[in-house]
Amino acid sequence: MKVRVSIGTLALIRGEGIKQLAPPTTAYMLQFSESGCAARCAFCPQSSASRAPRDRLSRVLWPAVELEEILPRLRIFRRLCMQSVIKPGFVEELGSLLDTLSGVGRPISLAVTPIPLYALRRLVAKGVDYLGVGLDAFTPRIFREIMKPYSWSTYISFMKRGVEVLGRGHVVVHLIAGLGESLREAIDTMRILVGIGARIALFAFTPVKGTPLEKCAPPPLRYYRSLQLARLLIERGYDIYRVAEIRGDELRIRNGPWLRDAEDAFLTSGCPDCNRPFFNESPRGPLYNIPSRRLLEATRAEWSDFLRGVVF
Ligand code: SF4
Repeated sequence: MKVRVSIGTLALIRGEGIKQLAPPTTAYMLQFSESGCAARCAFCPQSSASRAPRDRLSRVLWPAVELEEILPRLRIFRRLCMQSVIKPGFVEELGSLLDTLSGVGRPISLAVTPIPLYALRRLVAKGVDYLGVGLDAFTPRIFREIMKPYSWSTYISFMKRGVEVLGRGHVVVHLIAGLGESLREAIDTMRILVGIGARIALFAFTPVKGTPLEKCAPPPLRYYRSLQLARLLIERGYDIYRVAEIRGDELRIRNGPWLRDAEDAFLTSGCPDCNRPFFNESPRGPLYNIPSRRLLEATRAEWSDFLRGVVF
């Protein structure tokens, strides 16, 4: 069965990990479709609204390989992530892919658009412990503008069902910063999603040539750092508006115990062991999502300067 594999995942499989600044700790795979995804998301190179090559997702190359070929090497990763596209028969195909992947003996994340509950249960039973959901937009308005498939409320219902099936903290919502949301809108949506039992995987918008949003700019790094801190505080259970306030597009945070290990906010967020190295940024930086503790240490000057500026 053919799948796409992120180029960083493939490099590690082929024994070239030594050359990588931060090797992926999860194996990232994408369902193969010659014509891409039937959805029309404006930011995505897989979308049917895009003229970009079909071997791209964000800024990363995803070559097509035979799953059987890479299967024996997948044990070198701590987690396997199978991402879906919408195409005829994609749920059935996901079932076959998961049947094969479950033999690897690693935890599996499945990233999928809303599917019926019976189908979700069937797929989860094949060894999935985390569900990724690409809501992508921080507000219903942006959701419509970027032409997401289905509706905002369909996604919210699907996440709630996901929490019922997999448990609190086992649904991870992908959100893309920089599509026109304000910091307050982003924070309010993260509070709602964490309130229903989900967690947040933050992405920075990355313009890709050939997509309708190719001319838009990525978000300012300081805005993204504010979002990352807000995400950490919300997931740690703090009432964000008690411990922090919004000034313009930045967070100001009171000094207190909630800032313990605050730098962890800048590491990639998502399922356990998901580090998505350089998915949104060039390895030359600036690094929106920092994929390893070693790189967190190497970039200390940047984020500690940011922290000093926002704590009061
Ligand atoms: S957070 Fe990472 S491992 Fe989880 S579904 Fe998203 S990309 Fe996959």
